[in-house]
Amino acid sequence: MRVVVVGGGIVGLASAYYLAERGAEVVVCEQSSLGAGSTERSAGGIRQQFSTRVNVELSRASVPVWENFESEFGVDIQFRRPGYLLVAREQSTAAAFAENVAMQNDCGVPSELLSPAEARERCPELRAEEFVAATYSPTDGFADPHLALQGFAAGARDAGVEIVTGVTVTDVLRPDRGVAGVATTEGRLDADVVVNAAGPWAHEVAAMAGLTLPVAPRRRSVAVVDPEVPVPESVPLTIDLDSGAYFRPERDGAALVGGHFADHDPDADPDGFARSPGLDWTAEALERAADCADYFGPGTQVRRGWSGLYAVTPDHHPIVEETIPGFVNAVGFSGHGFQQAPATGGVVADLVHDGDTSLVDGSRLTSERFEDGQTVSERNVA
Ligand SMILES: Cc1cc2nc3c(=O)[nH]c(=O)nc-3n(C[C@H](O)[C@H](O)[C@H](O)COP(=O)(O)OP(=O)(O)OC[C@H]3O[C@@H](n4cnc5c(N)ncnc54)[C@H](O)[C@@H]3O)c2cc1C
Repeated sequence: MRVVVVGGGIVGLASAYYLAERGAEVVVCEQSSLGAGSTERSAGGIRQQFSTRVNVELSRASVPVWENFESEFGVDIQFRRPGYLLVAREQSTAAAFAENVAMQNDCGVPSELLSPAEARERCPELRAEEFVAATYSPTDGFADPHLALQGFAAGARDAGVEIVTGVTVTDVLRPDRGVAGVATTEGRLDADVVVNAAGPWAHEVAAMAGLTLPVAPRRRSVAVVDPEVPVPESVPLTIDLDSGAYFRPERDGAALVGGHFADHDPDADPDGFARSPGLDWTAEALERAADCADYFGPGTQVRRGWSGLYAVTPDHHPIVEETIPGFVNAVGFSGHGFQQAPATGGVVADLVHDGDTSLVDGSRLTSERFEDGQTVSERNVA
């Protein structure tokens, strides 16, 4: 079976790897360089504390791959696991915590509900008095997206995948039935199956196949700072769910801060958005981080920052399905596509080879859910 994967980000490369492992002949077309879309702009977070079962399943099915990455791909992705700490200011946010933890525990995730004082034991400078509840899981953490991408690329090449960069897919060839391949800036490529893994460009690639998908590119920013009080590496990635701010330790006391604070969230142009966060966002991010924990006083120094794009669906879950015969979408991962890429690659390979998957409940990931109104939104978003 010949497969063309559109997009050389982490989702496209993981899909290519698992497809080839199962015997497909795969070409990955990347318009720019590998990872040049969202992947290299990710904060690298890997967690299982989601509010819906299918997001927990996608992340959980990815964990063994992250844990064994070095032995499988020969690359140390710097996977560190100080956990994730989710904190709530509002009773309405806290009310969902017990339900989330019960569901996560049922899925095998060792998360727990904490009081603000207990949360402070995990994150010593947390402004515990600001919060009413927290959840924590010790198995969450973060890794280096660049190294993970390189690992999947090398693994895919070893499995026989051809990866071409600087080649843009310009059309999906659809004769009367199914898919015949793609047109590219370097000519035609025949294929039995085309996989759309185009990240923030997913909507455009879907349109080439005659589809309209609810996936919107939305700009998100992060900054690396030297806080006033160094952030120890044992501090969890902490998300202040009600303010939208998050932070995690980098090395040597530095921290990465991020979040989305504006009420408006316009669609961005993936070919022409501002790649630098700007002063207003940076000032607000530091202020929100300081409201959350006393690491970030006025003496905090900004080292650098960058912006990238989330590919957002209305319910913050991806679309992973064979939408029309021969055309598979693996798109719309919001802020969790890096961590969910291994499982997604497995699901894509299952869909292409078997027409179904047992890795996760694929019925929750179809685009039909938007038509039926059968959506349940992910609440734990950052
Ligand atoms: C600031 C920020 C922080 C984030 N933090 C996290 C985090 O902590 N944890 C997490 O799990 N996720 C995080 N994410 C989200 C994560 O980065 C994405 O979900 C993930 O990288 C998506 O991977 P992808 O392969 O689908 O998309 P991409 O990496 O964008 O890859 C898509 C590729 O397709 C290519 N392409 C598009 N159109 C065409 C075409 N027509 N022809 C050929 N090639 C094409 C693009 O050039 C691009 O390289 C973050 C994102 C941002 C912006």
